Amino acid sequence: MRSDVTAADALRIILEHTPVLGAETVAVPEALGRVLAEPITSTRRIPPTDNSAMDGYAVRRADLAEAGSTPVELPVAHEIAAGGRAEQPLEPGTCARIFTGAPIPPGVDAVVRQEDVERRGDRVAFAGTPAPRENIRPAGEDVEHGEAVFAAGERVGPAHLGMLAALGRAFVAVRQHPRVAILSGGDELVEPDGDVAGGRIVASNSYSIAAQCRELGAEPVYLGIARDEPDDIERRLAAGLSADVLVSSAGVSVGDRDYVRGVLEKLGCRLHFWGVRIKPGYPLTFGTFEDPAGRGPLVFGLPGNPVSAMMTFEQFARPALRRMTGHARLHRPLVRAVLSETLSKSAGRLHFVRVSLEREGERVLARPTGSQSSGVLRSMALATGLLIFPAEATELAAGEPVQVQLLDESFLDADAAGF
Ligand code: AMP
Ligand code: MG
Repeated sequence: MRSDVTAADALRIILEHTPVLGAETVAVPEALGRVLAEPITSTRRIPPTDNSAMDGYAVRRADLAEAGSTPVELPVAHEIAAGGRAEQPLEPGTCARIFTGAPIPPGVDAVVRQEDVERRGDRVAFAGTPAPRENIRPAGEDVEHGEAVFAAGERVGPAHLGMLAALGRAFVAVRQHPRVAILSGGDELVEPDGDVAGGRIVASNSYSIAAQCRELGAEPVYLGIARDEPDDIERRLAAGLSADVLVSSAGVSVGDRDYVRGVLEKLGCRLHFWGVRIKPGYPLTFGTFEDPAGRGPLVFGLPGNPVSAMMTFEQFARPALRRMTGHARLHRPLVRAVLSETLSKSAGRLHFVRVSLEREGERVLARPTGSQSSGVLRSMALATGLLIFPAEATELAAGEPVQVQLLDESFLDADAAGF
């Protein structure tokens, strides 16, 4: 097992061992936010026929060649409603009443909006010649039969869902959601409704990590709180071995009662590294099960401090879960920002600085959200970005451009629509 690895090496090792999950078939409405596991090819033409874009009158343009300051009057020969049939050709010298979405009858080469004509009993006066195919939406304008519509790997958004429905699909193949088993460990920990007398604390990591999973569409499975005893840790970790990913927080450091790594190895887990040169979150470990049949979860042994646990999940488990779910791009958007105040640290570890982002004219300002201690969850809650303070750098000066991982784009929310 390697120790004291760089963040980049840790990420590379993790992703080398991360599979893409298989496909499952879900009802189309359930596919929102999932990643397509099959290419979608159109099995029909949409729209199926040339049809009217307006409520108005279907005409032959040649009949209106003379229309101008002296209007041309045509009799209304028949009416075509949306959902109606258009077999009856339009006789020369007549027009047809037509409604939006109604099929265009043979002979018609334009539709004139009803607002642009004068209805005179069963006749209509036209004051101009429409352009060729004016207000006619062509058949197949959206998709043609046999056309490639979506590629496998695309994320299903609301418009994808509408298109799948329009194609008559009831089910679609998407990437499976990873199941993530989550364990908290420590004799000091209780559930949120537990008794905190005597300096006990709530096992909040299980909640923040489960929420990080849900944000990704992964399904958290709670394994409870393990006491600082190898047997209890083993029993609970064993219950998580059928998950796709096993996340345990705390007990992975170098204290006398940090049993998690030993128990994982006893269960057959191969640990690839321990200790990543980052802050917060140094004592991270990652392991896999070397089962020839490929069974066994990816294992993340996260540090126990609340921010360290969230940060290591964010930096290392999140990209792995995105890969499993079929996403091509695994990482948060990177934003160029300028720093509000000078920051300094010693060389050696990469720091992730919790910052809030603000728009300041054309620039984005990154402002630290308060104490950067690994136990201060409040500054994590306030953070809309994580500033990357590179391992070997010792100072970032106020006003300097910096790279920030965008956690939350709400600072871009507008108070006006822009139109
Ligand atoms: P450890 O890695 O066991 O030394 O834990 C490091 C710190 O994280 C200790 O202060 C623990 O009390 C705290 N901690 C451990 N597990 C959790 C948890 N599930 N939720 C909140 N804090 C925790
Ligand atoms: Mg502990």
